[in-house]
Amino acid sequence: MLTDYHLHLRTDDPDASAAEHFSRANVELYRTAASERGISELGVSEHVYRFKQALEVWRHPFWERYAHDDLDSYCEFVRGQTDLRLGIEADFVPGAEDRMANLLQARDFDYVIGSVHFLREGAVDMDDYSVWDAGRSVEEIWRRYFQTIGEAARSGMFDVLAHPDLVKYWGPERPLPEGDLRRYYELAMEGIAESGIAVEVSTAGLRKRVKELYPAPAFLQMSLEAGAPVALSSDAHRPQDVGADYDRALELLDGLGVRELCVFERRVRRLEPIGASAAAGAGPG
Ligand SMILES: [Zn+2]
Ligand SMILES: [Zn+2]
Repeated sequence: MLTDYHLHLRTDDPDASAAEHFSRANVELYRTAASERGISELGVSEHVYRFKQALEVWRHPFWERYAHDDLDSYCEFVRGQTDLRLGIEADFVPGAEDRMANLLQARDFDYVIGSVHFLREGAVDMDDYSVWDAGRSVEEIWRRYFQTIGEAARSGMFDVLAHPDLVKYWGPERPLPEGDLRRYYELAMEGIAESGIAVEVSTAGLRKRVKELYPAPAFLQMSLEAGAPVALSSDAHRPQDVGADYDRALELLDGLGVRELCVFERRVRRLEPIGASAAAGAGPG
């Protein structure tokens, strides 16, 4: 089986309406793209900050700008009108764990993907509110980023750890710490090992400035040694990116001896052997 669990039906346009994107026609485009790439197991994981209920958790100005949709309508749409697994991409907000846990536990998600996009108020992967403009050293940013990843895992709120080394997002446009980066990855490993969280392998980084898979092979290797299973996703925000560059991800997984992927249903995880299903029209998928 192949999965793509980290999908956004919405584009990043803050003004686009929910009705345009949460539609059966749009889902059909994602399904078709997935079938063409042999991916049978699909789930949608809209950003929590697109929903107005998220403002009960955190009121970052970026969230206030984006929080327009109704979370329960989204859940009803996915459950009632699609055959997609119901997921969500939720930020780990230190200090707001209880409020986020309440929001998540009140809905019957198949899985919750946990992300770290912000270090306190500063964004890792955006020009707006950028953490890189705050006068901190690259070492401090990387250290705090991977410590926060470990805390996110340990929080127990999430089934999957999204794009685990997102801090490298900018590639050559931001400084990189010198030497072996495993001293930073190590900061996250205890939380990963203790929590049993799945680690996402995401092809999204190939479409960003860094032009690499998330995570780096060394991070993935360490996660596997810590006992983490793998969730495979593209983080597509449009149909044509569903399953994008999976050949690259599968090569990495094969090279590290990974033979199984996580499948989620109502927050219960099982492992399925890796393998593409027959392409569209050639059989059930
Ligand atoms: Zn993300
Ligand atoms: Zn995402």
